[in-house]
Amino acid sequence: MKTIAVLTSGGDAPGMNAAIRAVVRTALDKKFTVMGIERGYSGLINGEVMPMERKTVADIIQRGGTVLKTARSEEFKTEKGRKKAVGVLKKFGIDGLVVIGGDGSFRGAQELSKMSIATIGIPGTIDNDLAYTDFTIGFDTAVNTVLDAINKLRDTSTSHERVSVVEVMGRNCGDIALYSGLAGGAENIILPEIGYDGDELCRSIIREKTKGKLHNLIVLAEGIGGAEALAEKIQKVTGIEARATKLGHIQRGGSPSCMDRILASKFGYRAVELLEEGKTSRVVGIRGGKIVDLDIDEALNMSKHFDNKLYNIANALA
Ligand code: ADP
Repeated sequence: MKTIAVLTSGGDAPGMNAAIRAVVRTALDKKFTVMGIERGYSGLINGEVMPMERKTVADIIQRGGTVLKTARSEEFKTEKGRKKAVGVLKKFGIDGLVVIGGDGSFRGAQELSKMSIATIGIPGTIDNDLAYTDFTIGFDTAVNTVLDAINKLRDTSTSHERVSVVEVMGRNCGDIALYSGLAGGAENIILPEIGYDGDELCRSIIREKTKGKLHNLIVLAEGIGGAEALAEKIQKVTGIEARATKLGHIQRGGSPSCMDRILASKFGYRAVELLEEGKTSRVVGIRGGKIVDLDIDEALNMSKHFDNKLYNIANALA
């Protein structure tokens, strides 16, 4: 293998740049030629390929987003689209590809590996919704962004003795809500993995208010409903003023945390090592603090473990 390429695909996540930098610099150290593909699989199909040097990735470790840009591509989901993509890779002499993204991007990488392109996936998504790895790049930064917002909301909801419902991202995974809820001292954390009883929630808000709680902070994962509707219900049933805040896309931006930069650097380094070892159709991850790699199929077929213990701790401390 002489030439490898790197792309970012699907939803962006803080730390993707640190991963690109790690891939490029590790590969150059190992005497590979390295290409960057812009706009994910869509850019690959369109031949948006550029050479990457050490200096191309200078000054990006601290930046959120992805300098290679990201996209979703319906065309790549078709065999015709993928054939075009392989044609572009062949044209540039690329025989190994590092894909930084989530589960959808990994499925794409798996398809390319069946077409004689060595592919390695790096988990980049704020949602932390990949079962095979304890953490994905971007999750820690997103949780810290949410935490900052929770701290601010706590001030104002205490002053006004209000209920505050904060809706956070995560698709069907409640990890952002669970971690930020525990770290932010939320009274209630509502997760798709657990579900909730709206009437019981309202009764508990009244009980807590009677006991003298100045505020009630509820962290709601997007996968279980909308903050606006929940706040309306709470206000109607309890008579206590309730406000909704949907944090939205600010959760995807910002300078990556130390943890995300280090994770991205380790993943990028290992991904290139795997290509050097002649591996393909694998994804890198972290489990119990150790960097691991698994077959893409095996990784995507695993079911996500829900951290019940962490949830119980959050409830006990609320
Ligand atoms: P993420 O990687 O963040 O989960 P998506 O699910 O949107 O994001 O996937 C990103 C891109 O990966 C899609 O736009 C598509 O081009 C490609 N992709 C997703 N699923 C498949 C699949 N089953 N086969 C081939 N390509 C896929």
